[in-house]
Amino acid sequence: MTPNILLIYTGGTIGMVKDYDTGALRSFNFDNLLLKIPELRHLDCEISAVSFETPLDSSNMNPEFWTQICEFIQEGYDRYDGFVVLHGSDTMSYTASGLSFMLENLAKPVIFTGSQLPIGDLRTDAKENLITAIQLAGLRKRNRPMIQEVALYFEYKLYRANRTTKISAEQFEAFDSPNYLPLLTSGVHLQINEEALLRPAKRVFKVHTNLVKDIMLIKLFPGMCQNVFEHMLSLDGLKGVVLETYGSGNATTAPWFISALKDAIKRGISIVNITQCNTGSVKMGNYETSVELKKIGIINGGNMTPEAAVAKMMYLLGQQLGPKAFKTVYETSLRGELS
Ligand code: ASP
Repeated sequence: MTPNILLIYTGGTIGMVKDYDTGALRSFNFDNLLLKIPELRHLDCEISAVSFETPLDSSNMNPEFWTQICEFIQEGYDRYDGFVVLHGSDTMSYTASGLSFMLENLAKPVIFTGSQLPIGDLRTDAKENLITAIQLAGLRKRNRPMIQEVALYFEYKLYRANRTTKISAEQFEAFDSPNYLPLLTSGVHLQINEEALLRPAKRVFKVHTNLVKDIMLIKLFPGMCQNVFEHMLSLDGLKGVVLETYGSGNATTAPWFISALKDAIKRGISIVNITQCNTGSVKMGNYETSVELKKIGIINGGNMTPEAAVAKMMYLLGQQLGPKAFKTVYETSLRGELS
């Protein structure tokens, strides 16, 4: 059976071609994809493409656009065997993390990719990223898709999407998954790390689009002042905060800091602790500087990336859980986003 793959073009550098007369970059017409990239004919897949009406630089992405991508997937879920989402690399990890939570019981591959250079550039990384992403979306084993999760393919590696973060604005190797092994490495052969793959519960596929955006991501720094911090936490309508703390989840023990947090929790604001470090995990209670955080009910974000922590916060706030359930569910791995 030839796999049917749906390509969803949202924008970003990957979909640009250089007009060699003017030197300007313009959007590529994905309707004529096979004419422009004849190599795609050699893939053993049927490829269809849909595109955002106006392709976006990913700095303009937001949860409403995440929902549009989900709608393409939901509409085509029975018809297609896999989905490849072409997206600007700048906020790709946020969108891909968002989709990992929005698509519950996903049993088909949703593979995000993009590129550092436009598809029409002579030295482009777009072709390899696109061709291999499509190939991976079509991979099957025992009549089932090999990948059954939201993943991100970039520069010879496939990662679990909600473990990734953009690490370079210069190198072709633009992404990393600091706390989880790549799912696959593409060399002469495709080396799949089967044990690392997520296997969904055999339940009905569900799409969640009710995301709550009234949240903040606050990175602590030595010298952050009381006035500013208290103002941020007392903003009208604030529902959740992801706090990037030091090391294994540590923060100042200054009484004003702890009482601002305590007060916010009392007002029903969910506060999650993640670390500013690239690798390693929050372990509240390890040092004196995190004992109080644990006591007052700060949620442990473990080794989640900021992108995954923000997306999970938006998703879970939309699930209308009570504070206790919210903490328990947040601290549980829902889509392999924490360990
Ligand atoms: N600024 C672009 C974007 O994120 C960069 C890229 O596509 O890689 O849309």
